Amino acid sequence: MTELLIKNGFVFDPINGINGEKMDIAIKDGKIVAKLSGRKPKTIDATGLTIMPGGVDIHTHIAGGEVNMGRMVRPEDHVKDAVSKTAWTRSGSGYSIPSTFITGYRYSKMGYTTVMNPSMAPLEAKHTHEELNDIPLLDKASYPLVGDWWFVLEYLKKGDLEACARHVAWMMDITKGYAIKIVNPGGLESWGFGHNVHSIDDQVPNFCITPREIICGLAKVNKMLNLPHSIHLHTNNLGLPGNYTTTLETMKALESVPYNGRPVGHITHLQFASFGGNGWGNMRSAAEDISKYINNHNHLTFDMGQVIFTDTTTMTADGPFEYTLYQLSGHKWVNSDVETETSGGIIPFHYKKSNAVNATQWSIGLELALMIDDPWKMFMTTDHPNGGPFFAYPRILAWLSSKNARMATLKHCHKKAQRNSLLPSITRELSLYELAIMTRAGQAKALGLKNKGHLGVGADADVAIFNINPETTDIARKFRTVRRAFKHAAYTIKDGEIVVKDGEVVSKATGRTMWLDVQTKEPCKVDEDMKRRFKEYWTVDYDNYPVYDRYVKVKDPITVKASV
Ligand SMILES: [Zn+2]
Repeated sequence: MTELLIKNGFVFDPINGINGEKMDIAIKDGKIVAKLSGRKPKTIDATGLTIMPGGVDIHTHIAGGEVNMGRMVRPEDHVKDAVSKTAWTRSGSGYSIPSTFITGYRYSKMGYTTVMNPSMAPLEAKHTHEELNDIPLLDKASYPLVGDWWFVLEYLKKGDLEACARHVAWMMDITKGYAIKIVNPGGLESWGFGHNVHSIDDQVPNFCITPREIICGLAKVNKMLNLPHSIHLHTNNLGLPGNYTTTLETMKALESVPYNGRPVGHITHLQFASFGGNGWGNMRSAAEDISKYINNHNHLTFDMGQVIFTDTTTMTADGPFEYTLYQLSGHKWVNSDVETETSGGIIPFHYKKSNAVNATQWSIGLELALMIDDPWKMFMTTDHPNGGPFFAYPRILAWLSSKNARMATLKHCHKKAQRNSLLPSITRELSLYELAIMTRAGQAKALGLKNKGHLGVGADADVAIFNINPETTDIARKFRTVRRAFKHAAYTIKDGEIVVKDGEVVSKATGRTMWLDVQTKEPCKVDEDMKRRFKEYWTVDYDNYPVYDRYVKVKDPITVKASV
């Protein structure tokens, strides 16, 4: 029985409405408790420090086929960031596609305790889980790519949502997945034949179905299954000038899915989906139109996909988009088609302040985050590593909380981007309470993780303590202090154990892998016909396909009762 008392810190726990109150946090056996029974618990004196729940990342590419392909393609990425071992940690390489161990250490040093890997080709699920098993100090989960999977497209085409729901429930089990991921719906299937879809009402070749039908159909399936997270959607036309109209149409289309207080969709890396103009020459921000719609509707959540000015590696299941990036940059690239399931692509990318489009993208991400009034709707991400590596998060927190920090960067940007940026007119500076929503509370709530993102009794004892005294520090003025504090947590506590102290890892703890055990009234039929199709369509037999429970090192299945 281990007990820990964190004394006298300033607590920011938005789910429980606590905004900087000075209080103690009691921990016993890995959970937050009301009070401790032992007389002499281990104590952390948090006087003058900021306490938040452990960070939660709703969208970060840290494991699986595309991440590993990125590592193979980019030796130059590892060479510049070799990481030595310490008494507690193993060696590895870092920068935009860190090795598994370094991924765990670097997140933990920033006070993060839970991360979600948002893109898992079902055929590559075993590999993804092998990497997740390897990542220390964090709880994690993965979203299988479902939107262009042949079985799902066939069920949706027939309009048989119940059978589709049972099939998706089965997929969550056999891939050990957490949420329905949809990438450029219909576009990936088209890409198998060298094409793409260009609006949500285009026909997907061979299936007589449209992206609109895939998105709304799977959002309804998600409701029928009572999944804790909504559908997780990478929109059509992502990364292309003028795509904000597609994003608006997608958000409007999802109004048709019954909303009963729980979001019906999460649109990911919104920055990449908020481009105005009709070509790269006049590409501009559409943050005003997009945020206006979002401020007037409540059925969706979002994350930023913020751009960082650095060298990074883009990777996505959106094969046709990666091809567009290749045409723009001429850089080395990889493109792949994952049998009947999805596609994928990798290309290195250097975001530069001196490039008008890159600088405009940087501005769009921040404009959106600052113009969307409700922080419970918009979460901080870089779509790691697509917009930039996750270790740059402290810089984003400084930009969000300080106009001075934003302007200090904007003044070095391309003149055209400066002229068109909305940032000079935005005075909003987010508080520590709002930052806590955007980096942990809001993300946990949108994911339906009941024991995470807060410090109430019964929550997982995942806690981050930062060297910021909100009584004496004006975070809008002292943005460099904020950046430093969020880069090196004073303490990170995972399941009640101190895993980081003074910004250094001091533990070898392993995190858990969460997945959904979705219980449908009738199970999905795995019959001879289905097995025959595996033989015909895939290069592996059915028996080699499922990720069995034993494959997962530290298991944390979450039972969900479906209504079908
Ligand atoms: Zn992504």
